[in-house]
Amino acid sequence: MSQRSSAAPRATTGFGALALDDTLVASVAGLGYEEPTPVQRDTIPLLLEGRDLLGQAATGTGKTAAFALPMLHRLGHLAPEHRRHTTGLVLVPTRELAMQVAEAMHKYARGGGLTILPVYGGASMLQQIRSLERGVNIVIATPGRALDHLRRGTLKLDHLAMLVLDEADEMLDMGFADDLDAILEATPPERQTALFSATMPARIKAIAARHLRNPAHITIVLDKTAAGKMPRVRQVAYVVGRAHKPAALERVLETEDPDSALIFCRTRLEVDTLVELLNAHGHRAEGLHGGMEQRQRDRVMTRFREGAVDLLVATDVAARGLDIERLSHVINYDVPASADAYIHRIGRTGRAGRGGTAITLAEPREHRLLRAVASAAKQSIEVAPVPTVADLRARRLEITRAALRERLIAGNLDHTRVVVETLASEFDVVDIAAAAVQLAHSAAGGDGDDREIPAPAPSASERNHPVAPLRPSRGHVAGEKSKRPAGHYTRLVIGAGRQAGVRPGDIVGAITGELGIQSRSIGAIEINEAFSLVEVPESMADDVIDALRATKLRGLKVNVRRDRSAADRRDGPRTGNRADSPRC
Ligand code: AMP
Repeated sequence: MSQRSSAAPRATTGFGALALDDTLVASVAGLGYEEPTPVQRDTIPLLLEGRDLLGQAATGTGKTAAFALPMLHRLGHLAPEHRRHTTGLVLVPTRELAMQVAEAMHKYARGGGLTILPVYGGASMLQQIRSLERGVNIVIATPGRALDHLRRGTLKLDHLAMLVLDEADEMLDMGFADDLDAILEATPPERQTALFSATMPARIKAIAARHLRNPAHITIVLDKTAAGKMPRVRQVAYVVGRAHKPAALERVLETEDPDSALIFCRTRLEVDTLVELLNAHGHRAEGLHGGMEQRQRDRVMTRFREGAVDLLVATDVAARGLDIERLSHVINYDVPASADAYIHRIGRTGRAGRGGTAITLAEPREHRLLRAVASAAKQSIEVAPVPTVADLRARRLEITRAALRERLIAGNLDHTRVVVETLASEFDVVDIAAAAVQLAHSAAGGDGDDREIPAPAPSASERNHPVAPLRPSRGHVAGEKSKRPAGHYTRLVIGAGRQAGVRPGDIVGAITGELGIQSRSIGAIEINEAFSLVEVPESMADDVIDALRATKLRGLKVNVRRDRSAADRRDGPRTGNRADSPRC
């Protein structure tokens, strides 16, 4: 078995270097992909060689293309008589994933002549049967429905050349183990098989041992990356459904009001779309991606340096080597596919000793990836709810207040004071001022008709792994939960919270810095308005209390005591559902 890990930085290679058909390379270029992600770089050559593969990679790493591209390449090269048969099968746990994978495959397969069909429960059986009878080359199916079709004889797998089990751990969690075995029994033993799973429990290894032949191992569980000396960067992730991302970005930009920001996107198309959207909403944004000529890029950079542009929207490739000094914010429009990319990106803010802010918009299905990135990059990322309409209004009022304050300081108000004086005989002076503020506020745009951005529904994967939620709950992610020592934990109350500007990282930093213990020994952290809660091993509780009392959090001396309202627990800190930070 060969072992590969994608932790180390790699040389840049394009899709062209991967020995894929030109049509496939052209497809991904057309989609705006600039270079393969680590899982693609590792997986594609092995699958093209015909190897079986056992891959550990989470959603968001680009694993769909990692198996879809070699599958399309290999099946496209089969002799013409195979064209009448189903030669490729992808098994996935959910209907949503079946649709997503089929959609991605259709895009990649453009013009290749292979037919692709998603087949899942809850959709019309009759329609699926008709489509299957017409002949389908690649079926993307949930196990239950695939088995139904196998038993009816409407799906035949005797010519299957390549099988992919995607999110295998989820399929097992959902009780598909027997179905998988039955489906695998119906396929030729000489088929090529790839199994992808975000986790590698013994049950997955057992399936791999039974059904894979001398598989290559790919691990995109991000190893600890050398974060080096990171600047002070506030790191926040907002969990938001794909459809609401543009609105969430708008809201984040309005509430954060960055002086200058670099917004990272995965693809060229995303860069172009965002630039258009941001400019349509009154921002001054320009894009940078690998499809642009050097001259164009230089022009954009000059405009950015001159301050004619506040927002740069870029792919990783285009941002590489950019020397930008004055970034207040880095925004990841998607979770980056590797910890290295995350570190490189956030390292662009917080320069010159000034604090910076890194914001990540994560889809619910990317929760594992976000957690893995946080862990591998050894960074603590706060998970926060997307700013609400109330937050937005508060922010706008704050801007009006600041403008009024400046005006008051500037003085020279005689001209308008007379208006106040004449009204003062009839009204209270504070009411007059409030009415004037309201007029000024409305003139500056007022409250608008903003809508709330809905909290995302839990993804299938979160539903199946409720111990590790990534709901927007003002928690933070940092590292792997499984490695935290089990034992008796005690909750401490710290007399400073959000009001005092305390963040989870401050508490972790104070405890680890003072006591020299590892951050993974610390349990859940919850930051409330006026106080914070932290779970620590009972054996260390007294030392932690002493250490926190002796130090300062955000420049403040804090009171620390045991939380008497909470019964202490065995088996490590609680993980769960309400606002107790999902520190993982
Ligand atoms: P996946 O992990 O397969 O769900 O992919 C996550 C997202 O990354 C999808 O939206 C893909 O379209 C996108 N993607 C996959 N590979 C690349 C790549 N090489 N460059 C840019 N985006 C990619």
